[in-house]
Amino acid sequence: MTAARPLTLMAVHAHPDDEATGTGGVLAKAAAEGVRTVLVTCTDGRCGDGPGGVKPGDPAHDPQAVVQMRAGELERSAAILDITDLELLGYGDSGMMGWDTNDAPGAFWTTPVEEAGARLAELMRHYRPDVVVTYDENGFYGHPDHIQAHRITVNALDQIGDDGPAKVYWTTIPRSQFEEFGRVMRELGADWDESEDEQPDFEMGLPDDEVTTWVDTRAYAQQKYDALAQHASQNDNIFFLRLGVERMAELMGIETFVRVRDSTGAAVPEHELFDGLR
Ligand SMILES: [Zn+2]
Repeated sequence: MTAARPLTLMAVHAHPDDEATGTGGVLAKAAAEGVRTVLVTCTDGRCGDGPGGVKPGDPAHDPQAVVQMRAGELERSAAILDITDLELLGYGDSGMMGWDTNDAPGAFWTTPVEEAGARLAELMRHYRPDVVVTYDENGFYGHPDHIQAHRITVNALDQIGDDGPAKVYWTTIPRSQFEEFGRVMRELGADWDESEDEQPDFEMGLPDDEVTTWVDTRAYAQQKYDALAQHASQNDNIFFLRLGVERMAELMGIETFVRVRDSTGAAVPEHELFDGLR
């Protein structure tokens, strides 16, 4: 007889900091409930802001210094979220769509999907997650590394077949939230442009009635905030941090998902990732 295996949640993310923004709440909540949490971060974040706020493209931007800084930030964030296992795939951050870095040697975007998918499948065989979370086919907002994280997750799930997780989710945001979100971001000084030419050629998020899973993580807002605060070197995160803990909880405390695989029969809409598993 072996002891019952704890439930396991695996989150597949593109960059150091994505674990906090999109899933910081569910990761902290799961850990508090005794769930084993595995964070897979696919890239090293080398195209992010460097020490002292140096931007990519600036001659003073040193990718190796950025990688080192962000690895430390990720470790501290993971510790705050009580992540059980942190796995780094270590691919090169591809930068935004159209940047030269898309095609750089070792960039995640140009890594064959089957190759990275095989490495992720190996991690899935090792950890045997009950629940896997990543982005939708547009990487939520179109970043190549987020799209690739989606693709390798789908590929890994294909490779492990019937031994795969009982439930699979893509992160999403209900459309009803976008207007409020944009308003708050502009108020905080973010360059949140909603003009036509700034919009990607797909619609971000989902109509509210297509969002299957709404998890109230407000009790874990402090952990989510503190985790994100470790990534304050990245300019985009500063706007979220300006919210403060309470407003962040209001605006980002209900984490939302679309369930794309389920073998438990749990009814939707649901309010827990682990409905049907315990
Ligand atoms: Zn990212």
